Amino acid sequence: MQDVSYCITQPIQSLSEASKEIANGKLDQIVTVEGIKELRVLAEAHNQMATQLQESFAQLLEANRQLEAEITERKQAESALRLSEERFRLALDNIPDTFVIYDAERRFQFINAFGVRRSGYPKEVLLGSTDEELFPPEVTNTFLPILRQTVETRTLQTGECQISLPGSDPFTVVVTYVPLLNEHGEIHQILGITHDITERKRAEEQLLQIAFYDALTGLPNRALFMNRLGLALEQKKRHKNYLFAVLFLDLDRFKLINDSLGHLLGDQFLLEIAKRLGSCIRSTDIAARLGGDEFTVLLDGIENVSNAIQVAERIQQEFALPFRLNGHEVSTTASIGIALSSAVDYNQPQDLLRDADTAMYRAKALGKARYELFNLEMYEDAVARLQLEMALRQAIERQEFQVYYQPIVSLTSGTISGFEALLRWQSPERGLVSPTDFIPIAEETGLIVSIGYWVLHEACRQMQAWRMCDNRTNSLNKISVNLSIKQFSQPDLIEQIAQILHSTGLDACSLVLEITESVIMENGDEATVALSKLREMGINLSIDDFGTGYSSLSRLHNFPISTLKIDRSFVSPIDNNGKNLEIIETIVTLAHKLGVDVTAEGVETKEQLAFLRRLNCEYGQGYFFSRPLDSSAAAALIVTNPQW
Ligand code: C2E
Ligand code: MG
Ligand code: MG
Repeated sequence: MQDVSYCITQPIQSLSEASKEIANGKLDQIVTVEGIKELRVLAEAHNQMATQLQESFAQLLEANRQLEAEITERKQAESALRLSEERFRLALDNIPDTFVIYDAERRFQFINAFGVRRSGYPKEVLLGSTDEELFPPEVTNTFLPILRQTVETRTLQTGECQISLPGSDPFTVVVTYVPLLNEHGEIHQILGITHDITERKRAEEQLLQIAFYDALTGLPNRALFMNRLGLALEQKKRHKNYLFAVLFLDLDRFKLINDSLGHLLGDQFLLEIAKRLGSCIRSTDIAARLGGDEFTVLLDGIENVSNAIQVAERIQQEFALPFRLNGHEVSTTASIGIALSSAVDYNQPQDLLRDADTAMYRAKALGKARYELFNLEMYEDAVARLQLEMALRQAIERQEFQVYYQPIVSLTSGTISGFEALLRWQSPERGLVSPTDFIPIAEETGLIVSIGYWVLHEACRQMQAWRMCDNRTNSLNKISVNLSIKQFSQPDLIEQIAQILHSTGLDACSLVLEITESVIMENGDEATVALSKLREMGINLSIDDFGTGYSSLSRLHNFPISTLKIDRSFVSPIDNNGKNLEIIETIVTLAHKLGVDVTAEGVETKEQLAFLRRLNCEYGQGYFFSRPLDSSAAAALIVTNPQW
């Protein structure tokens, strides 16, 4: 019995304990019952229920976990959104751009802090208002057309506006309007972004100023001038009778002013020149500075040539009035070239400028302080000069140059004391070309520098060769070489000369460098320094063509000069007993007082020689003694050792 009861109570107890455990949440309650079948079935049912419960609970737990995860995610997303919105608003409020949202009626719905500040209105006034209600038409006129177009076209529109709000400086902005459309394609909001580009505009203007205007005078520069000239040419092509003129101005002797007053006053002088130039022309004309002391004027739409001439004359008059610069009184003149648009069938603006330049050169050559009108003859001249320049360049390569030697005679001993080296160009196409024909072009183009050093080397070499081979050449002690003003301004002049003396073996004291008065007058202090250095090396310096430049004998006193060569124009009238005789006498006397020897150039007759001897002039040179000779003829002359 006991067994039976045990068989029943035990399983029931197990089952009831398991059920209790389940009730307490411990779902893994599997009960094992043996014996009584009904109880076994009950236990199985229990076990089934427990397993089921366990699985369902696990599913419930999983579902719950997922739900929680979703909730966390959503919360995170919400807070991220909030953060991003906050950031967005912070950014909007702090960017230096105006950001607005309009509603469909173009009323402000939103405006960022910058926009509020810039508008000058409190936010409450702005919100709900339209631009027209807030700003005067002169302000809204600038951007409303763009906004209206956005509304009309329902597309993004952008544009640049200059805005002046009361109480703030005018500023330039780029406005952009973006329409936001609803599902029917209608505008329900418009985004407006206004970006300030005032600084950029200013920088652009400055760049423009630098690119097209001269920094010193503020006048248009070459680039802008050429641009306007191009436009004028275009107009001329459209309207046959349209006439304009280009004036090319170069100040006469500006370098002298610059050197004597210093660069600062030189600059101020150019500034004054620019002002006066501006006062001589109409507002439709343009005056430009090409650089240095070169100015140009474009006279737009003139009636005839006399209009251009009148302006040129007015400029001359204006420039002639004294300029006061820091207590100094300076006056100047200009050489002006005029090119009329009708002179040639012009196609390129630079051709007009070139012709005005050519005319200016002509004005300079004819004595400066004047104007010249460009004509075809000048054009042909210019072409010829260009061809000459090209031929000259080839002449250097083809070695067509030769040095001739003209004796310089001591008037006391009557024998040859030296030679002047004179350059000759034996051109296969042109024949023997005179240096007076090609040296000015060689100087303008700078070719004279290399040609000049070649002459110097050749002359020094020749002189040294003559001295080495003949004892009698001891009395022949000097070779004179002409030095161009262009060579004189070369920074390595001294080294080059020293190098030539070294390589040819010639003594410095056997070399005479002939320079013209202009070297001294136009180079000022630099000239003094260079001349002193040459003198220290033992080289003799001679002033060539004396009397034709601006220098006075008293000024020459400051320079280490050993000889003056009186220009031929003072010597030739001796025969006619002309009044120049007094001048030549004065020059010789004064030169002697300064301890400077005198050479008379262009001695052609024995009367001239006699007169010069009476004046105690030391040396003579001229056809009377000998024409310039090639090196072998000169060598033969040395051998015969003539006496005059
Ligand atoms: P310059 O230096 O005054 O040379 C004297 C010029 O007068 C030479 O002309 C010479 O032939 C000429 N002459 C000499 N005696 C008489 C005379 O009795 N009557 C006349 N009517 N003329 C006489 P050239 O050789 O034609 O040279 C002309 C100028 O060219 C020279 O004048 C000089 O300024 C320049 N030149 C010549 N060679 C050179 C050179 O190598 N370098 C530089 N920079 N200039 C040179
Ligand atoms: Mg000379
Ligand atoms: Mg001379």
